[in-house]
Amino acid sequence: MDFGIKGRRAIVCASSKGLGRACAEALAEEGVNLVLTARTEGPLLKTAEEIRTKYDVNVVAIAGDITTEEGRAAVLKECPDPDILINNAGGPPPGDFRDWSTEDWMKALNANMLTAIELIRQTVDGMQERKFGRIINITSAAVKAPIDILGLSNGARAGLTGFVAGISRKTVAHNVTINGLLPGPFDTDRLKSTLEPAAKATGKSIKEVAAERAALNPAGRFGQPEEFGATCAFLCSDKAGFITGQNILLDGGAFPGTL
Ligand code: NAP
Repeated sequence: MDFGIKGRRAIVCASSKGLGRACAEALAEEGVNLVLTARTEGPLLKTAEEIRTKYDVNVVAIAGDITTEEGRAAVLKECPDPDILINNAGGPPPGDFRDWSTEDWMKALNANMLTAIELIRQTVDGMQERKFGRIINITSAAVKAPIDILGLSNGARAGLTGFVAGISRKTVAHNVTINGLLPGPFDTDRLKSTLEPAAKATGKSIKEVAAERAALNPAGRFGQPEEFGATCAFLCSDKAGFITGQNILLDGGAFPGTL
């Protein structure tokens, strides 16, 4: 299937590795030119070069923190008129809500709700005028099935999802869609870091803990970032203009509900 987005331009936030990188690669495979971001310059430049070489697309790397005004301004200066915007940032830490201060909450809300809203605010009108736009927010399966120790994530991402549910029904009239991608357990550095405490507590190796966790998923494994990227690329395609305001769960069947 031709996704019909060759030559389009995408901003992919937080994309030197993991799910962001997978989305960037899947878009590059469709011929989309990219602006990538991450805080650490070295790995970001390496990723940009690898994608550029493999897919023969234009890739610009902007090192910076996307959760800051300066970070966003640098990206939008490079690409003020993207056709595709993939919102992503690191997830907040786990913990007990009794320990979280207002400052902790503001940090999580900024990273996982307000940053995405701000980038949408600054790009969506141009997309509407040009009659094409695809916006994806990478959130979490926790939006659908909250995880108690990830309260900061549950709250901030649910806020973003609620906001998008409203505006995505307006923008679609101009061929601008906004959807959420909700990852369950995907094999990334982030996932590995969440296994470390369990490995330490039980004296097992990370490999053993990973195998036990993966076996609990109905698919019997973790998701692969490429699977996530492929779904993202389809939602960004010109074939997906009738899908908006949706939250697509990629969790190997872990959520037990009928709908
Ligand atoms: P990852 O493998 O750790 O990759 C995170 C990427 O984001 C890196 O490129 C990192 O580079 C960049 N990044 C982090 N904070 C940033 C910031 N403030 N500004 C710019 N770039 C930033 O993580 P992942 O697994 O892909 O997760 C992506 C998102 O999905 C996270 O919000 C995570 O909580 C969520 N999620 C993941 C899973 C999973 O199983 N993997 C499940 C549910 C939800 P730098 O560190 O150099 O900035």
